[in-house]
Amino acid sequence: FSSQEESIRAEAESGGGSGQLPEYKAALVGASGVGKSALAIQLNYQCFVEDHDPTIQDSYWKEVALSPGGCVLNVLDTAGQPVHRALRDQCLAISDGVLGVFALDRPDSLAQLRQMRATWDPCCTRPLVLVGNKCDLASTSKEAHTAAAALAESWGTPFVVTSAKTGQGVEEAFALLIQAIQRDREAAAA
Ligand code: GDP
Ligand code: MG
Repeated sequence: FSSQEESIRAEAESGGGSGQLPEYKAALVGASGVGKSALAIQLNYQCFVEDHDPTIQDSYWKEVALSPGGCVLNVLDTAGQPVHRALRDQCLAISDGVLGVFALDRPDSLAQLRQMRATWDPCCTRPLVLVGNKCDLASTSKEAHTAAAALAESWGTPFVVTSAKTGQGVEEAFALLIQAIQRDREAAAA
């Protein structure tokens, strides 16, 4: 099928109308300051915010064309600070999948993400895409990049390099997460 045929077919099968689109809940998780909110805002509004406003919790809801036929993506933006762990755990509990974000100029943020995942998904079975953000910065560390690629391989998850500033890789990261969620749902239904 061409992508257009595919989308028409999917719409017909879903009964048409946006109310019938499949919905996916994606949580953004990672240390404070790595760019989770900037990624959510870049995806939803195609713009970049310079300010860091430590998030407690935000949610964005948008119809996107990131999978054949389109879908509704609900992005749950969580807080990185340990003090908000209970809230983050609630978001994780209702999410279908996670973008695990670290910053390429901060190797410590990769270690923090690894520790966080051990608490919410110790068996590493839930859909996840590892996201190395801030690739536009000159100060990114090659070591962080290599360590992330190795970690993603050991987890069996995709690894995407992004910049919430330029938009590079942002749609790809969410599209890969949607695919991982779809595979997970198919496996659960089988
Ligand atoms: P959060 O705590 O993970 O939600 O981080 P924020 O989204 O609030 O971003 C923290 C800071 O990093 C802000 O000043 C952002 O403008 C900046 N930032 C986020 N993403 C990028 C990026 O891809 N490139 C650059 N250069 N700065 C970024
Ligand atoms: Mg934030």
